Amino acid sequence: MSEDKLQDKFLICIDCGEEFVFDIAAQEYFIEKGWLEDPKRCKMCYKKHKKAQRKNAQQFENRAHH
Ligand SMILES: [Zn+2]
Repeated sequence: MSEDKLQDKFLICIDCGEEFVFDIAAQEYFIEKGWLEDPKRCKMCYKKHKKAQRKNAQQFENRAHH
């Protein structure tokens, strides 16, 4: 384990332009997942983005089954 101490980071959401906190717990989660980049969206926009992606995927699947 490295001795680097994590600190809350303040980032700007690319969707809504609002500042949001990338907190230590979230950073640890990202490290655990092996994600090296900081998040680009706040939680709200991230959820919306995820939902939109899922919707697109479902539409695609439905089309594929017909
Ligand atoms: Zn946002």
